[in-house]
Amino acid sequence: MVFAEQREGRIHPVSYQLLGKGTEIADKLGVGVSSVLLGNQMEEKAEELIYYGADKVFLYDHPVLEEFDLLNYKHNLVKLIGEVKPEIFLLGATRLGRSLAPRVAAALGTGLTADCIGLDTDEDGNLIQIRPAFTGNILAQIKTVTRPQMSTVRYKVMQQKARASNRRGEIIKRDAELVPSLLTIKKQERLGEVNIAITEADVIVSGGRGLKKAADFGILAELAEILGGVVGSSRPLVDGGWIAREHQVGFSGNTVKPKLYVACGISGSPQHLAGMRGSDVIVAINTDPSAPIFRVADYGIVGDLYEIVPKLTNEIRRRHSE
Ligand code: FAD
Repeated sequence: MVFAEQREGRIHPVSYQLLGKGTEIADKLGVGVSSVLLGNQMEEKAEELIYYGADKVFLYDHPVLEEFDLLNYKHNLVKLIGEVKPEIFLLGATRLGRSLAPRVAAALGTGLTADCIGLDTDEDGNLIQIRPAFTGNILAQIKTVTRPQMSTVRYKVMQQKARASNRRGEIIKRDAELVPSLLTIKKQERLGEVNIAITEADVIVSGGRGLKKAADFGILAELAEILGGVVGSSRPLVDGGWIAREHQVGFSGNTVKPKLYVACGISGSPQHLAGMRGSDVIVAINTDPSAPIFRVADYGIVGDLYEIVPKLTNEIRRRHSE
């Protein structure tokens, strides 16, 4: 069973990727793939889940579920899983998934492997959950003895199947059971989701400790803007409060796969590389010619980012205006 995550009525692509992997695993085990979708007026999107591999979609349509509501999402999922008893339950390792999955797992009394980058099965049909451990130095293969076997899986590590609009499946409508919210947090305003922007961006210009102060992200933002991209960061600057956590690339941040990744003043630690080495083209700007980032870079510029980045921005701007 795959949790279909939606925001503002749009299915997060990680859900389609999980359905792609889910069908592979289900074929091996000789079982079907189901999905569960909670939202408001989501029937069309339930069809989409079928086109991407679901055989059954459990649909909970209710205005209260339009936006992520932790207690109501958890309550209905736990009840459904208790009834349907899937062998495996997968969620995206998004912020929503990371918040929801441990609560569902705890309520079900089952194990959870977070942040997987691979899934497989062994000869007995158990799920093998692959994730980096010891700060990315080894890949652990984890099996869960309790049921369901629950994992959150990183965005962009699995392949979605091609959309097949002739695929048929069953949409099973369920009445949502609503629980009174114990939360005292009330939503006032919805701000943009930077998380989506960085994981889906075609171009990312990232800064590391080569930057001298927080305001200097502005230099990178100018280059990012002219390339139609967004700004990323290594972890120390996020920890230092220079930029929001949504911008962090790496092992404990976002995994990104843009067409172009420009690393400015980033040394290239294994934890940073874990989040960006899948980028199509990597450009590194660093004053230290022995910086490990140059080992993964397609183009390396040995130099001061304060000199190189504005030069690049100006040159691209000049060419755009020709
Ligand atoms: P540094 O390693 O200090 O590198 C700065 C670079 O800037 C140097 O190579 C230097 O030569 C260069 N430089 C200096 N001045 C200039 C200049 N003027 N122009 C050009 N270059 C210049 N890190 C992440 O990034 N993402 C993660 O998700 C992450 N997760 C982690 C999880 C764990 C459990 C742990 C233990 C660590 C994690 N880290 C993560 C931290 C990681 O180990 C490194 O400390 C971090 O990536 C280093 O960041 P940096 O490259 O910006 O800084």
